Amino acid sequence: MSLGTLYIISAPSGAGKTSLVKALVARVDTISISVSHTTRKPRTGEQDGHDYHFIDERAFLGMIEDAAFLEHARVFDHYYGTAIASVQAQLAEGQDVILEIDWQGAQQVRRQLPGCQSIFILPPSRDELEARLRARAQDSDEVIERRMRDAVREISHYGEYDYLVVNDDFETALGELITIFGANRLRLPARGQRLRTLISDLLV
Ligand code: GDP
Ligand code: ADP
Ligand code: 5GP
Repeated sequence: MSLGTLYIISAPSGAGKTSLVKALVARVDTISISVSHTTRKPRTGEQDGHDYHFIDERAFLGMIEDAAFLEHARVFDHYYGTAIASVQAQLAEGQDVILEIDWQGAQQVRRQLPGCQSIFILPPSRDELEARLRARAQDSDEVIERRMRDAVREISHYGEYDYLVVNDDFETALGELITIFGANRLRLPARGQRLRTLISDLLV
């Protein structure tokens, strides 16, 4: 039985998903991030193996053939995918594992692992979403326009998720995420498994 919980976190690009998840992992030591594989080029400052495993399309297609992915999808003309192996090892150690993936990947993971929990992050407004994409200063005008158009499709899937968080004030949104993860850590059966010594002492 895996002791950790698998979480899916989705949001339109620019909503603040990556920043929130980084802050969450820095604050709570039982949470880890799954590092995805992608065929997109690294942004300035992104490190291979840390932000993503950056691979070419041939290598990606090879991994699909080898059934190495828990899920994969084509987003903004690039492939993105979650490799099975590292996720399973982390869950078995009792870590909660976050997948930062789009709605297509979320649907695939829910089918395979119905016990996962999913969270959708909304920006406070369209204008603010566009402002954040521009403030990040990592993408061209053309890419930003494409991401704004695709945001509508991503947001239209909000109803498939277990939790909704609005990232208006960063600390408030982070606090809501900490609440979600904290409450789930108290749930049976994984909580009972972690407390088995206490429970068997209490039952004698
Ligand atoms: P990436 O996955 O390495 O691209 O990380 P992000 O998507 O989080 O980074 C996007 C932008 O957000 C960059 O300009 C970062 O410098 C900035 N950023 C990263 N982490 C934080 C954070 O914790 N707080 C704030 N305010 N900005 C951040
Ligand atoms: P995503 O991973 O969803 O594409 P990022 O985490 O890269 O989004 O955030 C996009 C931009 O918005 C970054 O420049 C980040 O610093 C900024 N940002 C994130 N959350 C907030 C917030 N609550 N208020 C203002 N700016 C934010
Ligand atoms: P970015 O290029 O801004 O890092 O990510 C673009 C989009 O790809 C985001 O919507 C993100 O959720 C999605 N994404 C990142 N990694 C994965 C993954 O492993 N699988 C899937 N399905 N989507 C991913």
